[in-house]
Amino acid sequence: MGKQIYITRKIPEAGLNLLKEKGISFDIGNKNKILSKKDIIKALKKKPYDGVISFLTDPLDKDVFDACPTAKVFANFSVGYNNADVEECKKRGIQFSNTPGTSSIAVAEHAIALMFALTTRLVEGDEFVRKGKYKGWDPDLLIGTDMQGKTIGLIGGGQIGTKVAQMLHNGFNVNIIYSDIVPNKELEESFKVQRKETIDVIKEADIVSLHVPLNASTKHLINKDNLSLMKKTAFLINTSRGPVVDEIALVEALKKGIIAGAGLDVFEFEPKLAKGLAKLPNVVLTPHIASARQSARDMMALVAAKNIISYFETGNAINNIIK
Ligand code: NAD
Repeated sequence: MGKQIYITRKIPEAGLNLLKEKGISFDIGNKNKILSKKDIIKALKKKPYDGVISFLTDPLDKDVFDACPTAKVFANFSVGYNNADVEECKKRGIQFSNTPGTSSIAVAEHAIALMFALTTRLVEGDEFVRKGKYKGWDPDLLIGTDMQGKTIGLIGGGQIGTKVAQMLHNGFNVNIIYSDIVPNKELEESFKVQRKETIDVIKEADIVSLHVPLNASTKHLINKDNLSLMKKTAFLINTSRGPVVDEIALVEALKKGIIAGAGLDVFEFEPKLAKGLAKLPNVVLTPHIASARQSARDMMALVAAKNIISYFETGNAINNIIK
């Protein structure tokens, strides 16, 4: 019998067609909304699936793996994989893959859009006009900040951090610094980005932009203590994962003027927001849409499907992250 997989939510046709071409049959979760762990377990118990295409919102732990012991390959439809218990996969010989590089351009553009939204006070201006408050040109109205000449600090100099640096280096006259546990020579040499300790990036940057995965070393990487070390005029951008920032501490810092503003695409208690965040005028908030482009979604579907196919054909998913 041919291989069969479960796909927790609808993915673009590009990926489905590739699976069909290879004779892989699939069932797709019929809810097309975030599945609970109970929903996933119920679905996986129905058939002896050989693999799963999962989403960043699917909690994948031992109970889920127990529900379908035949599934030895999980392919996440995302770059981040903090939704999965990687140690448990290792113990069970499950291969777990992600879709690296599929959304780097989209996320980098979104991070830069958030930077400009804050420096130009774009959203405040939009609201001002919509509310009928605009009564004529005023030299003191909604004074913004120049981007030119500023220092942009990237925490995480991987695929997305590198794209942000490339775009800023080529397009805007800014000084860029970064921190990463692994040095990135391309970033340093091609885009003149200087590597520093994370704490120094936090202290020196006018805009701190986060591009790290969520793991034990990055949870609350930005917290009350180091928020107080940022410049009072600095902005914080987060397009990585919500819990990288202690969001309650961030709301306090924004209220007290410890930093000037924040642009957030991800939230610690997603989809909920920390109390008071939505009331602040100095934040720009987007609903985890940094990678929301059809080009990126198609690529994510293709790469997830290729990971499944490669596992069935060779015993190895191309982007297996289990070491
Ligand atoms: P990547 O793996 O290429 O880069 C991550 C970098 O972070 C690596 O170079 C790594 O060495 C570094 N790093 C890890 N721990 C660190 C630490 N403690 N301090 C400093 N650096 C550390 O990943 P990427 O493609 O650049 O993506 C980064 C993250 O962005 C993903 O893990 C994902 O969570 C998030 N993401 C978000 C969206 C969105 O829609 N908002 C879309 C794609 C990715």
